[in-house]
Amino acid sequence: MRQVVFAANWKMHLGPEEARAYLKTFFERSRLPDGRLPEGCEVWFFPPAVSLEAVAQALVGRSGFLAGAQNVYWEPKGAFTGEISAPLAAAAGARAVLVGHSERRHRFGEIDADTERKLSAVLEAQLLPLLCVGETLAEREAGNTLDVVTRQLEAALGRRPPAALQQVTVAYEPVWAIGTGRNATPRDAAEVHRAIRRWLAEHGAKSSRILYGGSVSLKNAAELLAERELDGVLVGGASLDPATWGELVRSTAA
Ligand code: PEP
Repeated sequence: MRQVVFAANWKMHLGPEEARAYLKTFFERSRLPDGRLPEGCEVWFFPPAVSLEAVAQALVGRSGFLAGAQNVYWEPKGAFTGEISAPLAAAAGARAVLVGHSERRHRFGEIDADTERKLSAVLEAQLLPLLCVGETLAEREAGNTLDVVTRQLEAALGRRPPAALQQVTVAYEPVWAIGTGRNATPRDAAEVHRAIRRWLAEHGAKSSRILYGGSVSLKNAAELLAERELDGVLVGGASLDPATWGELVRSTAA
């Protein structure tokens, strides 16, 4: 049976109270029978760190749902004002962590070596990393998409044993498609997903999941997910409204 992940990245939106209200509306509006997801379907929420505990608590006992952190620092503890560590995220209820999101790479100057350290910290804390990779528009236009994505995979994952790689989910998120309203076509996404899958298989991870992200919406989600190379979607803007997100999950999960 096909496994599909619907991952919601709330970015810098929704404090704890709003997060609780969001989830109440989401469960009401998604019209999931008994609040349960269809078999093989998972929904992951990545709230801002301050709302992590509220989200994790609201999801207790709901199978197929999990809360994750949008970012962690690689040290487990210490004098790093403003950062949170993977163990702290876990203590707040996180079970997954985004690593190398394009906004971290391009707005906050995260380099490949940082993603490598963060990924190690996430695995060390027994959390599931969701590694984001993707090219800029200039890189795509120069024909360098697969080189860039392969470089990002090599940096974050290249030296890991297969058992660790199996824990990793990859999100292909072309930078030019994030928050722009311009999504990759299912065919373009599938081509990159195939290359990522090949790379993972060559490194011993044959069953890792690969999500697509970049302006996924209620309008295009079904068409994108009809492409079997996509094991799910990572969604920013269209996940912020609980009714829209509930409808997106309900209408495309089956
Ligand atoms: C994201 O934040 O990972 C993302 C894909 O954003 P959006 O859906 O808004 O393009």
